[in-house]
Amino acid sequence: QVVYLNGEWHAATAAKISVNDRGFLFADGIYEVIPVYQQRPFLLDLHLQRLQRSAAAISLSLAPLETYQVLITELLQRNRVMDGLVYLQLTFGIDEHRQHLPSQPLTPTVYASVSPFNARWEIPTPFTVTLLDDIRWLRCDIKSTSLLGNIMLKRACQQRHADEPLLHRDGRITEGASCNYFFVRDGQLYTPPADHLILAGITRTWVIHLAKQLQIEVHETPLFTHELTAMDEVFLTSSSREIQPVGQIDDIMIGQGQCGPITAQLIGAYHTSKRHLIQE
Ligand code: PMP
Repeated sequence: QVVYLNGEWHAATAAKISVNDRGFLFADGIYEVIPVYQQRPFLLDLHLQRLQRSAAAISLSLAPLETYQVLITELLQRNRVMDGLVYLQLTFGIDEHRQHLPSQPLTPTVYASVSPFNARWEIPTPFTVTLLDDIRWLRCDIKSTSLLGNIMLKRACQQRHADEPLLHRDGRITEGASCNYFFVRDGQLYTPPADHLILAGITRTWVIHLAKQLQIEVHETPLFTHELTAMDEVFLTSSSREIQPVGQIDDIMIGQGQCGPITAQLIGAYHTSKRHLIQE
């Protein structure tokens, strides 16, 4: 694997960053994960626009977005990955020593790599998820590399032998530790609003778009844990897991534990949009 670091290309094992990088010391940075099908990035513009929103939120200056587009194209040319996940990270850069605020403007550290992943073309086996208190901060809309809360939640979930947490704040559902959630009730689609409590997933945006195309009514509205027993279908979304059906939430069985018809319809539409990308 060849990776990009600050204008240079290195073997992944040879790329090195400074111990004074603010990403290392403070996780003072942002990132994107972009799925690639047959060497073509999927929904790249939406990912770069979100990168811009994350950068603006933390006052990190970005190069023009075309720069990252060119970088990703070259990354994909240099690596023979057909289906993969591009990882793009920017930190505030290298300071003279550890101090919370740098004394002068720094040059951001830019890192990009691509790793292979298994694109899905079938309906996945439903997940079992577990409800956990959302212990994270109140700016989950920023795609920050500070993922300590998310990782603690993933560990708690692993201890319960579940596939993914379903997070809530005092009963109000937020998202997963690395995904968004959707619910189907009486043929209509529900998902929590894209406020500061969740990351507005690109897959989430795309699923909402696909649902509207399929004439499925979509509600971006607060949802509560006490409503879960009334749900006919549940699924989660992320760039790496695409659309993943959920069959069980702790002791609550959802639709006999199988992938429901609306979820299956959306998975089909998602696969069609991937096929369009490949055939472009
Ligand atoms: N929420 C969180 C907390 C995430 O980390 C992610 C991405 N891994 C998502 C939602 C889904 O975002 P996307 O669809 O852009 O991958």
